[in-house]
Amino acid sequence: MMRMPPSSHDDAAAMTATNGFASALTTAPPTPVDTPHAAAAARADSSDPSAVMETYARFPLTLVRGKGVWVWDSDGRRHLDCVAGIAVCTLGHSDPVLRRSLCHQLGQLQHVSNLYRIPEQEALARAITSRSCADRVFFCNSGAEANEAAIKLARKHGHRVRGIERPLILTAQASFHGRTLAAVTATGQPKYHEGFEPMVEGFRYFPYNDLAAFEALLAECEAEGPRVAAVLVEPLQGEGGVNPGDRAFFQRVRQLCDERSILLILDEVQVGVGRSGRWWGYEQLGIEPDAFTLAKGLGGGIPIGALAVKATADQLRPGEHASTFGGNPFACRAGLTVIQEIERRDLLAHVNAMAALLQELLGGLVQRHPQLLEGSRGWGLLQGLVLREGGPSAPEVVKAALAEKLLLVPAGARVVRFVPPLVIKPRQLRKAVKRLERALERLA
Ligand code: PLP
Repeated sequence: MMRMPPSSHDDAAAMTATNGFASALTTAPPTPVDTPHAAAAARADSSDPSAVMETYARFPLTLVRGKGVWVWDSDGRRHLDCVAGIAVCTLGHSDPVLRRSLCHQLGQLQHVSNLYRIPEQEALARAITSRSCADRVFFCNSGAEANEAAIKLARKHGHRVRGIERPLILTAQASFHGRTLAAVTATGQPKYHEGFEPMVEGFRYFPYNDLAAFEALLAECEAEGPRVAAVLVEPLQGEGGVNPGDRAFFQRVRQLCDERSILLILDEVQVGVGRSGRWWGYEQLGIEPDAFTLAKGLGGGIPIGALAVKATADQLRPGEHASTFGGNPFACRAGLTVIQEIERRDLLAHVNAMAALLQELLGGLVQRHPQLLEGSRGWGLLQGLVLREGGPSAPEVVKAALAEKLLLVPAGARVVRFVPPLVIKPRQLRKAVKRLERALERLA
């Protein structure tokens, strides 16, 4: 029987963990490789199924191939993928344009050090700044790393601009910012801290979208003078239950930050790069952040993270932050191609049209199953179906959907999340919601 991690990965694994069917997990035996250790690999059997550390509780599903919104498992079954690597595969699986562009890049140059100028990195930084409020970009490899960079930037700002000796960063309860020690401390969910104490000092939490509570926390922290360097917050909480930010809340927070020279940093890792139907989630809120972080959808499946800053917030000087792989030509080519293809295919308009259709389809589902479903919410192609208390949980619904060959992902215990590739077509969305309805009917 598989031992469950004390606190599993943000969503998919947490779902299987809470659902308790991890014991039914099967993992394909490792393919023996041609190394001196091949014999050891060949010994692997069901009692020693995997050499991979058990940090994830996984579904009993092995995906081997993908095309567009479809993925095939090792038994040849085709699944409709409304997870997309959890909001990663922007252009779908095996997109021919991304494939060609990356193959070409592999033939040119894959990696060089940041000791030198990298044209693809320059071009991707320009592609981001010319479409956003930012002036400069630092590249890394994941969302957590992008937030680490943001946290370091915030501390520099606190020291240099506000003259704070021990700066604080305010983040929201139910947030998710990643799994490195500082990013997980920023994450306002105690379950992700358990077992990893002591956490990084200097973080305080407020309830998301709650202005009175935010103002009270800010006043308390600054009672004896400047203490707060930055507010780090998601424009829409993804993992925390698909909670869109409230415009009035964000606009007031923006004002309060301006009054005190506190940085407002938005974590756009899940919602940025077109998923909300705008390039950046902050556009939904009518504000501009001083800095924002990206990852997930930026590379369309190739790992990349980024911290984008306004010139006025750029506190990092040569030698103060770095990444070996960050901004390499291959990952930046992926990011550039994703941005160019979003524009060339007019995907922002497409996302808005698909979001309207998905909301309508989910609305119909809620009407037909009022005993199970409470409603739906979200922006663009990041939509959550909210389940009623007392009925099947999100992990149970996701598991039932898997049996219908539909891939979905929970966002907490009571929200089922749709984050399909941005290229999903109307008939595929209809098919997805039909499959979900069959899954719900089995559970009713
Ligand atoms: N920030 C947000 C809003 C996220 O949703 C996630 C991942 O789910 C992260 C940060 C962490 O990103 P990564 O897993 O690439 O480190």
